[in-house]
Amino acid sequence: MSQFLFEIARRLAVVKPLGTPQTTVVLPTRRAAVFLRHHMASLLQKTIWAPDIISIEDFIYSAVGYQPADPIELVFELYSVHREVEGDNARTPDDFFAVAEVMLADFDEVDQHLIDPDVLFNYLHEARAIDLWNPDGASLTDFQKNYLAFYASLTSYYEKLRERMLQKERIWQGLASRMLNDRLADNNTLQLKGPVLFAGFNAFTPAEESIVGKLCKDYGAEVKWDADAWYIENQEQEAGLFLRRYREKRYPAPVDDYPNHFATGSKNITIMGAPLQIAQVKQVGRLLTEAPFTREPGWQSRTAVVLADESLLLPLLNSIPPSAGKFNVTMGLPLRTTPAGSLAELWLELFSNLRPNSEPGVNYYFISDFYRVAMHPLMIKGFGRLREQFDILKKTDRLYISAHELNELFLSGEVLPSQNLSLPVNAIEFIRKVVDRILESTSDEATGDLLLISTATLKDVLTRVQHYLNGFDGPLTMTMLQRLLGQVASSVRIPFAGEPLAGIQVMGMLETRALDFENVIMVGVNDDILPGSGHSPSFIPGDIRTETFGMAGFREKTSVMAYHFYRLLQRVKSAFLLYNNIPGNLGKGEPSRFLLQIKHELPKAMPNISLKEVLISDFPRVTPIAPIVIEKTPEVINKLRFAAGKGFSPTSLSLLVECPLRFYLNRIEGINEPERATLMIESDRFGNAIHDLAEQFLRPLLHKTIAEDDLSIQRETVIDNLTDWFNRNQPDLDCRSGNNLLVFNVAVDYLMNFLKKEREMCTLQKVVPVQLEAVIERVIEIDCDGISESILFKGRADRIDFRNDFPVVIDYKTGTVDPRSVSISMMDTIVEQPKHAKALQLMTYAWMSAGAGGFNPPFLCAIWPLKAPSKALVYLNFADDQQERPRHQGTDRTITSQRLNDFEAVLTTLLTNLFNPAIPFTQTKEIENCRFCPFIELCNRVRPGH
Ligand code: SF4
Repeated sequence: MSQFLFEIARRLAVVKPLGTPQTTVVLPTRRAAVFLRHHMASLLQKTIWAPDIISIEDFIYSAVGYQPADPIELVFELYSVHREVEGDNARTPDDFFAVAEVMLADFDEVDQHLIDPDVLFNYLHEARAIDLWNPDGASLTDFQKNYLAFYASLTSYYEKLRERMLQKERIWQGLASRMLNDRLADNNTLQLKGPVLFAGFNAFTPAEESIVGKLCKDYGAEVKWDADAWYIENQEQEAGLFLRRYREKRYPAPVDDYPNHFATGSKNITIMGAPLQIAQVKQVGRLLTEAPFTREPGWQSRTAVVLADESLLLPLLNSIPPSAGKFNVTMGLPLRTTPAGSLAELWLELFSNLRPNSEPGVNYYFISDFYRVAMHPLMIKGFGRLREQFDILKKTDRLYISAHELNELFLSGEVLPSQNLSLPVNAIEFIRKVVDRILESTSDEATGDLLLISTATLKDVLTRVQHYLNGFDGPLTMTMLQRLLGQVASSVRIPFAGEPLAGIQVMGMLETRALDFENVIMVGVNDDILPGSGHSPSFIPGDIRTETFGMAGFREKTSVMAYHFYRLLQRVKSAFLLYNNIPGNLGKGEPSRFLLQIKHELPKAMPNISLKEVLISDFPRVTPIAPIVIEKTPEVINKLRFAAGKGFSPTSLSLLVECPLRFYLNRIEGINEPERATLMIESDRFGNAIHDLAEQFLRPLLHKTIAEDDLSIQRETVIDNLTDWFNRNQPDLDCRSGNNLLVFNVAVDYLMNFLKKEREMCTLQKVVPVQLEAVIERVIEIDCDGISESILFKGRADRIDFRNDFPVVIDYKTGTVDPRSVSISMMDTIVEQPKHAKALQLMTYAWMSAGAGGFNPPFLCAIWPLKAPSKALVYLNFADDQQERPRHQGTDRTITSQRLNDFEAVLTTLLTNLFNPAIPFTQTKEIENCRFCPFIELCNRVRPGH
């Protein structure tokens, strides 16, 4: 296959004086320049002074003698212009920056199209004024007047920005093209050192077209088009739109000489539909080891993987098998998609969430935001030594962390300009210093590490943004900084270092310009990407843009994408074009229309082209997850013994019955749900508050018979007490508004309800509380294969009363209680059925209470469901008719010695099994038990009902 750039190299090598150092070869991209130099070197096999080979962008800037403007600088300068134009009516930078991007893009286009900005913007203003004109003579609203004033001032914005940037000698690309064109039109002699050859172009902007046209006419420049008869001669082919126009007007250069690559040489094209992105990149991995072209020697240097969807770069790199050999990534990775990009975002989010009502000069930030930052892979890499301090912080109940602490923790107290890290200049200084420390602490690691390369790029970006912030005299906000950094992080690309010409080339669609490969694998060939919508935000409406001023519209933009696609195919021998075939929104999942075109047109017209379609039903295979089984090794048994020595609570037993694995993780390994510092009243806090206040109200009545008047506590008093409780236990919480106020009021209702029931009951029976929040303990000895084990049970009984002189052990519950859950007909079922968890807890309390120093049976055990306004005590009972009468409690409620003995036997069996090394800890089979389990992801279980 003869490559386009190879042909250019041959021409340069043999045609004098083209191949001299005085010649300038202008190509679409810098990448193409690298390839052309390589071809010249391989042809000449000797050292020469090569022609100047540059991209068109570099050519134009060097010809006008200005530097390209930094996009961030342009945004800041445009805001200064905005303040100059609008005066006191200027918007904040937050509001203006989104508008600025659109304005800058429009200014660039106006210049690229050589349109007089004054004419265009005045036309726009008048068109808008007509739109808003009211035939009934009604005057415009203030909003409409401002809207018109904005359009009227666009010329002024353009002129002032242009003036500022010219003074700085840094200009945008469109302006550079316009200036060069004007210079050539004014016969202002351009200093060219020799012949100029433009090669590999298809569509110029009007400014470029005029420049090239004048250079051809007046300076003898030449244009070498890279085109094919298939799309030039066929009027229907959008890929040839520009070239046909140039051919017709023979301007900027004639289009007479073009080959017919599609009609010659055999081509094998395979269109592959694959489900989602991941199946596409996996398929690329497979093709790079199994496709027929991989059997040819040196195939790598003739192969390109082209990403129409550039977001697939990282997954693709992970899918290229080592056996495919070397590869070179010529496209950069957007900083925003790397861990370094997300680190800056996380820090800014932290600094934006300043604690409400912070005292002046003391800044506090949410600790939950801090944990997200602290767990970031780069922070772990750079500040791993702080892990212990993070863990200590985690164990506290704090909601906030101060700027001072952050400074101490990460910068060892390095003096910051101020403790207010929510000021953008301080925030960026802080983040930059943190990034510096990460780089310092990792300086001895491999330099090729992507994590570190992206961190170094982040540092450069932060320095750049900091530079502009420091020189900016307008109001700065965190939102603006976030937006700005987000923009820059999206546009800055991490370059991959390597051998640019070695191995398989991995590139984006635009980098393929002027390059040819025998084998092409293209990924992401979907219609929403190729050609895509072609729409960019603009203040210039479509009809005015195309019909009145002849600017490029959707047709032209699509034609450029079509050209890139067809040009890449024109010299291939083998092409695999992959698209995602899972339907999504807005055209996602639709194959590109270009695929449909080649499928219906090429094989019919060209017998040399074989085209086939393949559907890959390759959903990522889901390997069945092996059940989690924890064997009771001697080490596990020792941990079990240790936990048993410290004491199990009655709730632990319920946990064991519900799921042995959850019991093991939580009670033996001590793995808890991550502590969440939150501004909401969590359910455990809610329960603790009610338990504590119930105790507080009853404590003065301990050992006394309760009289109705004793508990005539007013709602206001309950509110005051509850407020005190939250102030003591969770001072950061605001219970005066929002969801917290609702929960607070529910807690007040529960307590009022509790007091009311208490008053009602004491009129019906004699109630004497004898213990409140009493700690009860009991040890049980079991024998496991001749080894004696002592297991301590420990718990806190909410309350023990004498009711009509009969002892009752009472457990408060803030949730609902189904009477069936505390009814047991057979003692064995208490540990066999998780639905009896509450009965198990009550029976364990009963058994513990009857231990040394406790009560002698008979006595009663009951739950007090605080939520139910009508129910007082729900007794543990031994009825067997609950299925028939589910809402009623059985009347056989007495805890007798026999029942305690029966329970102890059941408990012994349960604990013997617990210590039995032959019975491992396993996952529950009852999926319903997983509903509220914090380990649900670890177990890969799905919550019931989801
Ligand atoms: S998710 Fe289910 S199986 Fe896993 S530990 Fe929790 S309760 Fe047990």
